[in-house]
Amino acid sequence: MENTIKNITYDALVIGGGIAGGEAALNLAVTGFKVLLVEKDLSVGGKMIMLSKVFPTLDCSACITTPKISEISRHPNITIFTGTEVGNIRKVSDTEFVAKVTKKPRYVHVADCTSCQLCEQACPVSVSDEYQYGLVGRKAAFIPFSIASPKAAAIDIDNCTLCGACEKVCPTNCIDFTMVPETMNLHVRTVILATGFDLIDPKKMPRYGYGTFKNVLTAMQMERQLAPTRPFNTILRPGDGKMPDKLAYVLCAGSRDATVGNPICSQICCMYSIKQAQLLMGALPMADVTIYYINIRSFGKGFEEFYQQAKGMGVNFVKGKIGRITEKENGNLTLRYEDINTGKLMEADHDMVVLSTGVVPPKGIDGLFEGETLYMDQFNFVKQSDPLANPSKTSIDGVFVAGTATGPMDIPDSILSAGSASSEAISYLIQHV
Ligand SMILES: Cc1cc2nc3c(=O)[nH]c(=O)nc-3n(C[C@H](O)[C@H](O)[C@H](O)COP(=O)(O)OP(=O)(O)OC[C@H]3O[C@@H](n4cnc5c(N)ncnc54)[C@H](O)[C@@H]3O)c2cc1C
Ligand code: SF4
Ligand code: SF4
Repeated sequence: MENTIKNITYDALVIGGGIAGGEAALNLAVTGFKVLLVEKDLSVGGKMIMLSKVFPTLDCSACITTPKISEISRHPNITIFTGTEVGNIRKVSDTEFVAKVTKKPRYVHVADCTSCQLCEQACPVSVSDEYQYGLVGRKAAFIPFSIASPKAAAIDIDNCTLCGACEKVCPTNCIDFTMVPETMNLHVRTVILATGFDLIDPKKMPRYGYGTFKNVLTAMQMERQLAPTRPFNTILRPGDGKMPDKLAYVLCAGSRDATVGNPICSQICCMYSIKQAQLLMGALPMADVTIYYINIRSFGKGFEEFYQQAKGMGVNFVKGKIGRITEKENGNLTLRYEDINTGKLMEADHDMVVLSTGVVPPKGIDGLFEGETLYMDQFNFVKQSDPLANPSKTSIDGVFVAGTATGPMDIPDSILSAGSASSEAISYLIQHV
């Protein structure tokens, strides 16, 4: 059952609460415009809030993200809806878009939740924790992660048995199973798409054994193991809890690979893998780390030096494309590859393998608009109508695009792109009063 549809008005709608959406919203807000930031997940912060450190400076990612998120959350011109989906957007005039947005019930009144975690402790249901990329479990009553914003519990109603244990222990009585989806018609003058990116499903490449071999991880799972808010206190093999001492990185796992429909370079994987290798050398000083690559693309400022630094620290770089991974009885993994320098077929054993999985576009963005066509590029990222002169303009007048919604890029470029999108949106708002 849904509530009667409410009408609400803002100057701008920003879709996606990652670093690009947050930055764009903040720029609009400080200029005096009222912004609604809509995020489909339970917390804002996007991928960046989940990272360990950032290349090439090795600054702590959470330490950069959390003050920014707190500024966005406290700004009087910004309203944030988390756990909210955008149904469709219609352009009704030159100065107005109407977006249908639906806030999914969280079953917890956020303002009253003290994040005491008593509900988590009482809940008898455990499921895989998507915010820790499946490395650990979480309860059906849960706080998404320790630095989530808002930091409040939510009930995963799909797995909840309605036993009521959480409600009984909640000291503020803020758990409310009567909550229903709330649909609103949102009237805005401009829209910024900051819907980010997804990572390719490594199961699409069965030759790497992800999902079958327990000690094959994704780089995002390794980010979580290396982050200050990590699930374990050290780096562990998921298969048996052993600390690894011979790790391998497989670069271009699902990038530059037409066989899985992703022929483009993901731009970030070389550098984040080199970053993780350096962090691993610190976390596991006795471990060997080998990076198997096709080419190292260290194109950005300070990137080549960062690559050379990793070599200097002892990270082993092998120019070789991994053809297949097999598992041994003890959970170790054999990598079969072509050594590109010698042309020879080789095999090497490692006790943990990290797949540097490729960047792909999120689904459903092209279908957001009704009556107007949002052009997508050939890889299904949002098409920039004039990438050189006007990189944040889309095919719809008044709709702008920020960050990785246009294609793979790193954090500094996402922030720059958000600056461009918000400047364009501000100029559009001033011209269309
Ligand atoms: C393993 C890994 C390590 C990395 N390490 C680094 C690093 O060290 N340095 C660096 O510079 N970069 C790094 N990056 C890249 C960095 O994560 C991105 O550059 C950055 O997150 C892009 O931000 P964004 O806001 O464009 O997208 P995202 O972070 O993807 O945020 C997009 C947000 O939009 C939301 N969203 C999507 N669709 C909708 C919708 N329809 N409605 C509402 N909300 C929606 C998503 O839930 C998400 O919160 C790394 C990436 C990975 C995968
Ligand atoms: S919902 Fe209640 S019990 Fe759970 S964290 Fe919030 S205040 Fe604590
Ligand atoms: S009612 Fe649901 S969320 Fe609450 S304790 Fe029981 S299973 Fe967990």
